[in-house]
Amino acid sequence: ETSKPGNFITQIIDKDNESGKNAGVVTTRFPPEPNGYLHIGHAKSICLNFGLAQRYNGQCNLRFDDTNPEKESVEYIESIKRDVEWLGFSWKDDIKFASGYFDQLFDFAVQLIQAGKAYVCELNAEQMRDYRGTLKEPGKNSPYRDRTVEENMTIFMDMKNGKYKDGEAVLRAKIDMASPNINMRDPIIYRVRHVHHHQTGDKWCVYPMYDFTHCLSDAIEEVTHSVCTLEFQDHRPLYDWVLDTLKTFHPQQIEFARLNLNYTVTSKRKLKQLVDEKHVSSWDDPRMPTISGLRRRGYTALSIRNFCERIGVTKSDSVVDFGMLEHAIREDLDANANRAMVVLNPIKVTLTNYPEGKEEIFMVNNHPKNEAAGTREVPFGKELYIDAADFAEVPPRKWKRLTLEGAVRLRGGYVITCDEAIKDAHGEVVELRCRYDENTLGVNPEGYKPKGVIHWVSAKHAVDARVNLYDRLFNEEAPDANHEGKNFLDFINPESLTVLTNVKAEPSLVSSDKGQGFQFEREGYFCRDLVEEGIVFNRTVTLRDSWAK
Ligand code: ATP
Ligand code: MG
Ligand code: MG
Repeated sequence: ETSKPGNFITQIIDKDNESGKNAGVVTTRFPPEPNGYLHIGHAKSICLNFGLAQRYNGQCNLRFDDTNPEKESVEYIESIKRDVEWLGFSWKDDIKFASGYFDQLFDFAVQLIQAGKAYVCELNAEQMRDYRGTLKEPGKNSPYRDRTVEENMTIFMDMKNGKYKDGEAVLRAKIDMASPNINMRDPIIYRVRHVHHHQTGDKWCVYPMYDFTHCLSDAIEEVTHSVCTLEFQDHRPLYDWVLDTLKTFHPQQIEFARLNLNYTVTSKRKLKQLVDEKHVSSWDDPRMPTISGLRRRGYTALSIRNFCERIGVTKSDSVVDFGMLEHAIREDLDANANRAMVVLNPIKVTLTNYPEGKEEIFMVNNHPKNEAAGTREVPFGKELYIDAADFAEVPPRKWKRLTLEGAVRLRGGYVITCDEAIKDAHGEVVELRCRYDENTLGVNPEGYKPKGVIHWVSAKHAVDARVNLYDRLFNEEAPDANHEGKNFLDFINPESLTVLTNVKAEPSLVSSDKGQGFQFEREGYFCRDLVEEGIVFNRTVTLRDSWAK
């Protein structure tokens, strides 16, 4: 693992280890709030935190930061566990929950009160905002700031025991209302909330705030390096103040740049809105940038890990091109996915000189560059399907497919020449009558040269399939940015999904596994849908970069 390139965080850890800090132990954590499904941004944090633990033979905890029970659920917890494991990581200890520390956190709050470092404040939300001041103006001390320890203790216990309603009182750290850092202006550390919690049930009606919970959870777990995204830089003084004041184990908070991807939103709140308002079918809709959506789209865990490694870890925000993510999956599937022949828009071909009732079976390589991938049987007969796009009556210049009196090779089969295009009443070509050259199986024909190679399936043996052609979910490069009077929903691509229902696939695909990826010859990379029972394939990515168009 140390052979992998380092980054500014590994440099910090290397230095710590050289100086003997933490006795060389490295403990990290990945701390999602279970208020939605994980997205590709979280994958970066997972690869980073679990990757650091692997690199230094340390450990990475999976900890649910569950202090907002009304937005959280067990469904989200289960999905997050599944996604982290699917990405290829595992945690040593049991799963952690911030709610598992509620007793200790309450005791820490009491310690702060007893040290004169916290007080109960009964300003309402609006007054609280007024007193807090602004970036330019210092705040004012709350009239409740100088309550005695006894009074604070009595009320805090009453809050815990349900004698206060939501919003009637909060516990605040007593720091500095004039601090230039607004996070340090006596931040709230506990609030009253009469809600059921998915882990602790109805035991609590006071819940700790994120900034108080997070640093102390890190300290309780003796996390050595607490890696978070840049927006928490301004919270670091508070992180340090809580731990210094309570004299606990003191993890080092290190901030890195979050992943931003163009044409994508990576915010659980916005992704939830896409699901709730039915712009997509579910959290794991293959158009979603969620880990479960990418999985269902056909992304492999390896491709996502490779992507995260390539984008690197830095201290300055940037936007990564979606094409980089696609490159990672294309690269994996090109090397590792079997090939198959599937006709997306079928048109019938009859081989007029092929004996009636005759059938053959061709052995076709599963992978052109990897013999170990083996071969498969592909049946052949008098009637075939080819893609309508592979025939043109009036071909454009440099046409390499089928045309009247032209010849092409059927991949893995014979060379055929087209004699006649049969049309329906609207002038639409409905059938091609062709001749096959029986001396061309694996051999070049004599005296003429086929222009190209096309894919096909035997009409008699073909299986019906449904194919979902996915395109980008947003038409706008920065759907998330500030657009005059518009929000990200206004940029949804109305053509992000095209369903093809008349697809003819080679019969070997019937026995493919759910989730298995393929290159459909000349069409792109597809995977068998993970959820649907029928023969349903999702387009993972086109053969070549289509984002540059
Ligand atoms: P969101 O805004 O999508 O809800 P969040 O940061 O609130 O994201 P958490 O569940 O708190 O979501 O995230 C868990 C961890 O994942 C945090 O440490 C957070 O910093 C990290 N993370 C979240 N989004 C990204 C991102 N886009 N890039 C890198 N890391 C991220
Ligand atoms: Mg968060
Ligand atoms: Mg959030």
